[in-house]
Amino acid sequence: MPRRYDLQVHTDASPCSSTSPERVAAVATAAGLDGIAVTDHDTLANVGAVQNAVPDGFDVIPGVEVTTTEGHLLALDVAETPPKRDPLTVVDHVHAQGGVAVLSHPFDALRQYYETDLDALADAVDGVETINSRCVRHRFNQRATAFAAAHGLAATGGSDAHFPMEIGRAYTTVEGDGSIVDAVREGCVRPSGRGRYLSGHVATKFHQFRTATNYAVTNVLAGGPLRR
Ligand SMILES: [Zn+2]
Ligand SMILES: [Zn+2]
Repeated sequence: MPRRYDLQVHTDASPCSSTSPERVAAVATAAGLDGIAVTDHDTLANVGAVQNAVPDGFDVIPGVEVTTTEGHLLALDVAETPPKRDPLTVVDHVHAQGGVAVLSHPFDALRQYYETDLDALADAVDGVETINSRCVRHRFNQRATAFAAAHGLAATGGSDAHFPMEIGRAYTTVEGDGSIVDAVREGCVRPSGRGRYLSGHVATKFHQFRTATNYAVTNVLAGGPLRR
């Protein structure tokens, strides 16, 4: 049976998530996955905590979702957080430390996306995330799929989970016992799962609303103004 990895999972080290590393570990294990990549925004801070919380045999790949000057980029199997620079510089940084570089929801026009130097980018990266569960429109993932195929790049899937119930909605499958990271590098992976999921965004809005409300309530109790 192929192994399944959700290659894009956030924890509360990302500003838009409040899921603890322990909860991520528990839910990912319960979802029947073989592993996940922890990919918080521009930080590796919670990778160790997730690694400590999973059972033996469950893979946790240290990753970062890097904010480049264009789109987001998944740096997988890295020990250092790449700088928030232009995409090609970020890819070089990832490769210099032996990691793989995957374009994250590259053409999602409702979030950060890529539009310049696409051929150079295709030559530089190892893969493209072609199923991202948080793409609201099918065509965003469809364009990523076409781009990966046109350039012969590995196609990956990730839930982009910011909440526990999202983990495993999309994932990447690999045959055999080799490392998933090597399989991405060699183009021997397949994306799977659901690519369109609205309630995650609704939950994010609710999370932001609740955070704002907590702030207002705390502030009023403290006698401060209602707004920052
Ligand atoms: Zn992103
Ligand atoms: Zn993400």
